Amino acid sequence: MYRKELTNRKRIVVKIGTTSLTYPNGNINLRRFAKLASVLTDLKNSGREIILVSSGAIAVGAKRLGLKERPRDTIGKQASSAVGQGILMQYYEKSFNEYNQRVAQILITKDIFNYEHKRINVRNTFEKLLELDVIPIVNENDTVATEEFNEFSDNDTLASYVTELIKGDLLIILSDIDGMYTGDPNKDKNASLISVIENINDDIISLAGGSASSLGTGGMATKVQAAMKVTAANCDMVIAKGDDPTVIYSITSGQPVGTLFARKRFYE
Ligand code: GLU
Repeated sequence: MYRKELTNRKRIVVKIGTTSLTYPNGNINLRRFAKLASVLTDLKNSGREIILVSSGAIAVGAKRLGLKERPRDTIGKQASSAVGQGILMQYYEKSFNEYNQRVAQILITKDIFNYEHKRINVRNTFEKLLELDVIPIVNENDTVATEEFNEFSDNDTLASYVTELIKGDLLIILSDIDGMYTGDPNKDKNASLISVIENINDDIISLAGGSASSLGTGGMATKVQAAMKVTAANCDMVIAKGDDPTVIYSITSGQPVGTLFARKRFYE
């Protein structure tokens, strides 16, 4: 069974969304941070390399600023993320420090990928950090990225670019849904979870349309786009529910959880 292949994946990028890090009222979910830090440090201790792509800056910043909801305008988002990113890192520092695990912050803008020297520069930084046993924590540099200026806008896409850049061999997207379904599970009682997708065809793409949540920005469509990018770059991707970070253990031990998009090489 192809799932067992995932036990051999060494360089793992984990993306966690805003809804997995905060409560619906916008407050930080402390248990989630603590669990995530313990699981990722443990995996790292077992010999894997871990890169975390974390959303949450805008939501956490908006909460700290006392805003009633996540701002929709660019300048509001930039101000909120400027406040929230530091808070986010403060929680990560605290949580990983519990296990003496060093972390680093990397903020990325999309233009980096248009220039080879910038790309190489960023890649070298990742390599050095991994060599130093650090877990890099990545977000978009929301304070300078704007819609007009070629932003990623969602971290599913950002995670796929980062995974490709550093030649990750497994991307795990932790979301508020446990994978991809044959229909909308909120509307269709017969919709069932798809365990493995070996070919991202038109049916899969149209199935993915829509479904964004209120706190984060990505929906299933951005996740399928991310899967298209990484599976073409010799990497597997799994979408799973982020409410219990120990799901990462199940994925990396080859158990059939969430939806696996198998890398292209597998069926070529
Ligand atoms: N970069 C945004 C943030 O940290 C999140 C983007 C997303 O939700 O995908 O708030």
